[in-house]
Amino acid sequence: MKKFRLFTPGPCAVPEEVLVEMARPFRHHRTDWFKGLMKQATEMLQQVLQTRNDVIIITGSGTAAAEAGIVGCNPPGSKMLTIEGGKFGERWGEIAQQFGIPVTRHAVEWGTAATPQIVSDLLKKDPAITCVMVVHSETSTATACDLKAIGEVTHAAGKLLLADCITSAGALPLKPDEWHVDVTITGAQKSLMLPPGLGFLGISERAWQVIENNKNAHAYYLNLNKARKMAKESDTPFTPAHLLVRGLVKALSILLEDGMESVWKRVAAMAAATRAAGEAIGLKVFSKSPSDSVTALCPPAGITVKDLRNELEKRYGIESAGGQDQLKGKIFRLGHMGYVDEMDTVLAIAALEQVLYKMGHKFDLGAGVTAAQKIFAERLA
Ligand SMILES: *Cc1c(COP(=O)(O)O)cnc(C)c1O
Repeated sequence: MKKFRLFTPGPCAVPEEVLVEMARPFRHHRTDWFKGLMKQATEMLQQVLQTRNDVIIITGSGTAAAEAGIVGCNPPGSKMLTIEGGKFGERWGEIAQQFGIPVTRHAVEWGTAATPQIVSDLLKKDPAITCVMVVHSETSTATACDLKAIGEVTHAAGKLLLADCITSAGALPLKPDEWHVDVTITGAQKSLMLPPGLGFLGISERAWQVIENNKNAHAYYLNLNKARKMAKESDTPFTPAHLLVRGLVKALSILLEDGMESVWKRVAAMAAATRAAGEAIGLKVFSKSPSDSVTALCPPAGITVKDLRNELEKRYGIESAGGQDQLKGKIFRLGHMGYVDEMDTVLAIAALEQVLYKMGHKFDLGAGVTAAQKIFAERLA
């Protein structure tokens, strides 16, 4: 018997109720049935993203939503600043370049976060910059930045702020309206407990003014003005992935039943437990500013990431992620997003201990689980 357990930081585990919801017979999308679903989904997304701004639902993965935001917010004469500390930060700089958008791509060391100081210094140095894009939770390095503090800097400087919140929305505290985030970007298959295929953007009025006046948006399918016009009628410009929208209503209702504050606390506890467990069994936490939605650990000397991940999968069906590019072979990652709870986290840590033990790593068997248990038990008390 093999029971698969998805601990990758996307796609993440989906509740059975959501899968069943999407398996039910469906109707055509140009109907009041679907408009009702879109209306519900949009209102729920506003609650999950904690915003009163318009939320646009895009058929496509998170990258599609990000591309729509980048292209829409950069009319001729604009200039973008991206802070890149991992794979995803780099992607946003690449998109800008591919579309011929003038862009300053500022690299920070992988495993460190974008800081308000860096953003402030770069904005002072180059007043031509009109918008800034940061990654709230850089999944490739399991690193989170202080988005609120960065929002204060961009707001004071009068610049638009775009934030990749793909692994922060539904996991980390996020308040785009209070934090002056103009474009909040996320996707379906991380904390929002859906299979891949939808992207979402929360867009401020300030950003809409730029997008609406953008005469040169090289976007047809990902044109936000078209999407907004249709969204006013709870409709979409093209055929939507309507079963995913149906699943979304179900998934978000599960999140909202807990309430976002409670979800954030649970995710933080799972991350704290995983970090504590790692340290208790001699594994270093990679990031200097760890995100709570995903943890990157360094394997012990003499054990390769490849063998460790293979063993976790072979023995207990645990799917983890490795490192990408410069972090390949250096880290492995366990997600705390989607349909995972405290006991799933204990299970993953127990499996990790068993596998490391078998592979010859010397540590106190059970020390990781004990460290995690303490954190969870204190939450119950
Ligand atoms: C997963 C992820 C993306 C990419 O989203 P896709 O849905 O794969 O297009 C972008 N940014 C971050 C931080 C992510 O974790």
